[in-house]
Amino acid sequence: MLVLKFGGSSVANATRMSGVLDIVESRAATDRVILISSAIAGCTDTLLSRDSEAIERLHDSHRAIISRLFTSDDRAEAEKECDSLFDRILEFPETVESFGEILSTRILFRKLELEGYACTWLDSRELVVKDNPELSRSNIAAAVAAHPQTRIFVAPGFIASDGSGNTVTLGRGGSDYSAALFAAGCGASRIEIWTDVPGIMTTNPKDCARARSIARMSYDAAFSMAEHGAKVLYPPTVIPARESGIPIVVKDTFHPEHPGTVISSVGEHDGWTGLTRNEDRICLVGGTSAHGQEARAKIALAFGRIRLADSVVTAEDDAICIDVPHGLGLKALKELHREFFELDESTTKLLYIAGKGAVGTALRQMLESSGEKIRLRSDKTVKIAAQVDSSVPDFCERIIADAPKNSIFVDCTDSETIHEWYEPLLDAGINIVSSNRRSLSVPYREYAAMKNAALRSGCFLRYETTVGAALPVLESIALSANSSDEITRIEAVVSCTLNYILSSDLPYTLALENAKKIGLTEKDPRQDLEGRDALRKLLILAREAGVNLDQEDVSIEPVLDLDKVGENQRFVASLVKDSTAKLGYRAGIRLQTVDESHPAYWLKGTDNVIIIQSAYHPSPLVIEGAGEGARQAAASILNDILK
Ligand code: ADP
Ligand code: ASP
Ligand code: MG
Repeated sequence: MLVLKFGGSSVANATRMSGVLDIVESRAATDRVILISSAIAGCTDTLLSRDSEAIERLHDSHRAIISRLFTSDDRAEAEKECDSLFDRILEFPETVESFGEILSTRILFRKLELEGYACTWLDSRELVVKDNPELSRSNIAAAVAAHPQTRIFVAPGFIASDGSGNTVTLGRGGSDYSAALFAAGCGASRIEIWTDVPGIMTTNPKDCARARSIARMSYDAAFSMAEHGAKVLYPPTVIPARESGIPIVVKDTFHPEHPGTVISSVGEHDGWTGLTRNEDRICLVGGTSAHGQEARAKIALAFGRIRLADSVVTAEDDAICIDVPHGLGLKALKELHREFFELDESTTKLLYIAGKGAVGTALRQMLESSGEKIRLRSDKTVKIAAQVDSSVPDFCERIIADAPKNSIFVDCTDSETIHEWYEPLLDAGINIVSSNRRSLSVPYREYAAMKNAALRSGCFLRYETTVGAALPVLESIALSANSSDEITRIEAVVSCTLNYILSSDLPYTLALENAKKIGLTEKDPRQDLEGRDALRKLLILAREAGVNLDQEDVSIEPVLDLDKVGENQRFVASLVKDSTAKLGYRAGIRLQTVDESHPAYWLKGTDNVIIIQSAYHPSPLVIEGAGEGARQAAASILNDILK
């Protein structure tokens, strides 16, 4: 025999009831079944309100269910029974709340009978005696034995008698307990509690979206969770099940394929089971006294992060309860959940990658092939949680809602608009690594807003890859700028396209054709010749040096005609200290003749060279090397991730 119990949300309307019937029928194919049901969602509350208008609406809801599930004479009969039950509600106001379960189970019973099953409706008021589990059991055993032909028994949850013939209830949420009593009475092999969540979870998923389902747990752990307020299971339910050794499986009617939670004597667990919350009181359930010290340290760590002082921690036998200041319960719960039940973020970094182009693909391959090596070198595991190529807004919204804090958003796109997500992501506690120079060369005001968001959230925004691919350019500039050294001049020969053309032995127009062929240029190569790409890089460089440069501060002399460009020319973006200039610096991008004494003279192919002159250093810092390439970019991104 199997006992299947369905909660209010599982029988909320005709569609949900049909889902229940499917589940019951699938079980009845292999075993006899006792179906216990709650009243339809909200019904008990409405009945207890004794609000006649609301009760009238409840009547309508039941009639609506009947009219969807039944036709012709069957419908008329079901309606008649429903109407008479509602009449009786008015006659017996003192037991008003007992009618909800009768109504729902009578409908389910009629429907199953119509489908041809040998069914019996059992009146729980005659079988379940409150506070007398022994008598309840034997009553139930006798009732079941009296119907050997019955395939499906249907019985209302929640209601019982007091032993003197009066109708009483088993307490709010009590249908779970009814199911356990029926299971114990007939020696069922399993109790299935069907509800609206995939099992008992690490905390209430309505409080914390990152709660996860617990696959197996012991009766004791389930009891403790329930007793401390996890509403998913009514605490007394565990007692008859444990006594009779019947496993309880908590399942989700919305996702019947999900395995849910199996509660049995073998589900022993190590460490903490979950968190419960009652307003501003949170209980960390499970563990043993041996875990107490460690738990207190972790609680302090979590609350330190959200600057929550003044909590009171009390140790109980099977839990540690924490009272936090008024109104902070939810926030505290989320942080505790993160600390106790989410990934160990100090060693695992979750990546959410936007972009599956050359760089995004190279990054994925690099992570897949060097996973273990990364762990060995940096003691960190880097995992790709998700990677998308389009629908960036949906992706970012999902990250903000669901990603664990301290995850890393990686922008490998060349999108012009994706930077609008940087601030909300940072504010949600998500770090950002970007190879998209368009995002960092937005107007200074927007750039500063992103930087501020990073500061206030304590998250990082790293974009070393945006200039000179894997060359440590920005880091070197920041090093000077941050150490109160003053940058006096930066010369950046950073346009890969122009470097390729100008260092070529071919006629320059032919070299441009080649650059286009190998995918080096922008979609419209004029953009490169006009210095658009060099401009973006110069803005990023200058800002890193503390100069609030904007596009209009840069004088650009585009390369208009490649045929007219002479020898030993390089396309140089420069930032030169000049007290007469608006920002204290002059910025320009133009062709410049270089001789052998200039590092750019020796440039080959797509290499870049960046020359940084600062007040403290008599000779310049020259950084030279590969300026582009998907693998170089991916390596640089990875470096930003692991920094
Ligand atoms: P039913 O009507 O099926 O009896 P309940 O509303 O009584 O359902 O219980 C299910 C609800 O319990 C879930 O919707 C969820 O919000 C709440 N809940 C609280 N704590 C937990 C937890 N730890 N795991 C799962 N659900 C929980
Ligand atoms: N219908 C009752 C209640 O809402 C019993 C139950 O659903 O378990 O409390
Ligand atoms: Mg319940």
